[in-house]
Amino acid sequence: MSPRRGKPLRQFAVIGLGRFGRSVARTLYEMGHEVLGVDVDEELVQEMANEVTHAVQADATDEDALRQLGIRNFDVVVVAIGDLEASIVATLLLKELGVEYIVSKASSELHGKVLEKVGADRVIYPERDMGVRVAHNLVSGNLIDYIELMPGYSVMELVAKDELVGKTLRQLDLRAKYGINILAIRRGNEIIVNPSADEEFQRGDILVAMGRDDRLERLEAVDNQRARVPGNP
Ligand code: ADP
Repeated sequence: MSPRRGKPLRQFAVIGLGRFGRSVARTLYEMGHEVLGVDVDEELVQEMANEVTHAVQADATDEDALRQLGIRNFDVVVVAIGDLEASIVATLLLKELGVEYIVSKASSELHGKVLEKVGADRVIYPERDMGVRVAHNLVSGNLIDYIELMPGYSVMELVAKDELVGKTLRQLDLRAKYGINILAIRRGNEIIVNPSADEEFQRGDILVAMGRDDRLERLEAVDNQRARVPGNP
């Protein structure tokens, strides 16, 4: 499989082939990247054999085993081990072995802090993030997606409300009113990046908005009357 749009092929290793690790590994492979899947569980390794470039049985808390995998040569190593101690030890060893970019999965804030201290370049909290997304989606009928940039700041994708249709960004003055920047507008198959102040919203437009959470929530709240929560007509 060749990478899309001529992007250079990157080498990824995903350690821990639980539900999360499998999903990451499979997706990267489908995108055309080279993916090594690693797990202590031989059965999981067998199951993944046809879904990644290579699948290998190894214990990521064993330094020699990691060395033998040539783990240093991978561009990105994802540690998706649920067990606290094993995920911390694996992250530390990968750092010591000189891995360029380590992404580690944390199950709690404290776990995440420790992972950062031992060398994770990026810590991800899939359960917490998914919980936040689901909650926002349940409360706000017009919210499509939600990404936390850093604590307190997010990017939201939401459907333009009826009140916005026919108005320009200048008229709405969202930046002054809510401190919100509209990064892009998705209109059918078209994407208008960094729209001008004279851009007029159309029905069905999808806004990609960035700002402080409390401000975005104010924008989002306007639509609460129409929220698609069961029992909320
Ligand atoms: P999820 O919630 O994503 O399913 P789990 O914690 O259940 O995550 O799965 C993590 C995976 O990590 C399991 O398949 C487990 O076998 C694997 N794993 C645990 N310890 C190690 C280790 N030391 N080296 C490699 N893989 C490990």
